[in-house]
Amino acid sequence: MMMNILNVLCSKFNSNNFESEVFETAHAAALRVIELSKGKTVGFGNSMTINSLNLVALLKPEVKQLFIHLPGKAGKEERDALTADLFLTSANAVSIDGHIVNIDGTGNRVAATCFGPGRVIYLIGKNKITENLPAALVRAKETAVNLAKHYNRKTPCVKTGKCEECQSPGCVCAVTTIHRRKPNGLNISVFLINEELGL
Ligand code: SF4
Repeated sequence: MMMNILNVLCSKFNSNNFESEVFETAHAAALRVIELSKGKTVGFGNSMTINSLNLVALLKPEVKQLFIHLPGKAGKEERDALTADLFLTSANAVSIDGHIVNIDGTGNRVAATCFGPGRVIYLIGKNKITENLPAALVRAKETAVNLAKHYNRKTPCVKTGKCEECQSPGCVCAVTTIHRRKPNGLNISVFLINEELGL
């Protein structure tokens, strides 16, 4: 049943100009990423999905150079990642009608998905799929609350469990992006994985 939904979503992304593929397992998706990364420079957005696939360690011996973003950092590593051959990230939510939603505290991750790297690959677990765009925005905000908790940020949502529209220094919600189709001239793949991955 879930594979049917992933296949429907894959077709939707392909009709919105992305290149989408479906994978039964995270391992299969990781092998595909390794194949596409060989000899290239590779940038990372901070992502629990990518961490759970152990991609930094798997790619290290295969690629030319890695640029790894650490939470709260916004320096040369992040700028170099924006012009890497390949950029790997996840999304906070994707809707069945083909929208990709991301909330970002630094902006480097969402910037890379709008313009910069030679190719972007989204790695998205089935738990990120929502019924429609409003539900995707709700899910993305819930993910931000969970992320703030995960990093023990001094934000009001960590105490109340819901977004309080804060302006705290530790806020993880500076920029929200919605991709409704692939931006012109960019090379963006959406890998849909039949496993629960990330927040
Ligand atoms: S309270 Fe602040 S950090 Fe928490 S979800 Fe809302 S805007 Fe983001």
